[in-house]
Amino acid sequence: MLPWTVVGGDPAGGPRAGELHTPHGVVRTPAFMPVGTAGTVKGVAAWELQRLAPEMVLANTYHLILRPGVDRIRRLGGLHRVMAWDGPILTDSGGYQVFSLAARRSLDEGGVTFRSHLDGSEHRLTPESAVETQAAFGVDVAMVLDECLPWPVEPGVVRPSMERSVRWAVRGLEAAGRVREAGSWGGGLFAIQQGSVDRDLRAECTALLAGHPFDGFAIGGLAVGEPPELLHEAIAFAAPLLPAERPRYLMGVGYPEDMLHAVACGVDLFDCVLPTRSARTGKVFTSRGDLVIKNARWADDPEPLDPDCPCPTCAHYSRAVLRHLFISREATSVVLLTVHNLTFFLNLMRSARDAIMTGRYASYRESVEAGRRAGP
Ligand SMILES: [Zn+2]
Repeated sequence: MLPWTVVGGDPAGGPRAGELHTPHGVVRTPAFMPVGTAGTVKGVAAWELQRLAPEMVLANTYHLILRPGVDRIRRLGGLHRVMAWDGPILTDSGGYQVFSLAARRSLDEGGVTFRSHLDGSEHRLTPESAVETQAAFGVDVAMVLDECLPWPVEPGVVRPSMERSVRWAVRGLEAAGRVREAGSWGGGLFAIQQGSVDRDLRAECTALLAGHPFDGFAIGGLAVGEPPELLHEAIAFAAPLLPAERPRYLMGVGYPEDMLHAVACGVDLFDCVLPTRSARTGKVFTSRGDLVIKNARWADDPEPLDPDCPCPTCAHYSRAVLRHLFISREATSVVLLTVHNLTFFLNLMRSARDAIMTGRYASYRESVEAGRRAGP
């Protein structure tokens, strides 16, 4: 199993700082993983990603299977070479996108058959092939194939879906064992807790998974449309259910206040498209709240996006110039806003880690939230 140590905070139920050792380096948590959907973090060249230095990046198996394809990635030397990134990479199993993006899909006990949203071609993903594909990419952390249900969902649907996801997780673990025995892969495999917003089902799911030697445990099936109060409530009961002795990853949750809440509940890892996708729509995250760069309010503003931000965008460009570039649809504006947003998200978690290590997480969270409420 991938070595994991809690180095600060509350190992069992509260905020904690940890170190996950992977084949491509140590992931210091809590950490935010930028999303590199199709083998690149959108808007960021590899050398800029190195400078931003995230602990780990995420890529999406579904997109990579369709384009450029598993065999081509293997021939090109693996996903690290494709991404020109030497640090740790985590991939999802492809399940989430199959259930949300694929043109058509049919689910059976063996796996899921789907049609590409790009060209309608038919593909099949099984619990075994999902793990073998991620291993072929050469990733540091792979995820098991699971079914991610929408919200709201009919109550009768959740239990059989959760139970199937558990059976799939165990099959994925067996497949990982075979790949590792063949000596072709040294990464870890995370299981995924499901159960929608039902505490008892999530507890049951965790109990079924926890007896198996997974490298980490994720919370799946949240942030799929439920209101924020319900999301926070679910994070608060779902996270402490997961085994304390392995890393905990909350999938797809990345709004700053949601992450701060989840860290308080003992979550170690996050990913979200929010900083990169928002940059493309002109939404900017700052220590004084969020702002929409195209608003006329910024047309003559000489201040940086965030006076407290150490990023090169804030060092070199004013809000007024960034607004001009954005409304002129200059490609550079997206690059500049992406670098700023990623800096904000990465530093939010780095500072959270520092605060945990020095025993002041609660006051750190309070001051970040107060600053963001104040507005830009
Ligand atoms: Zn900045």
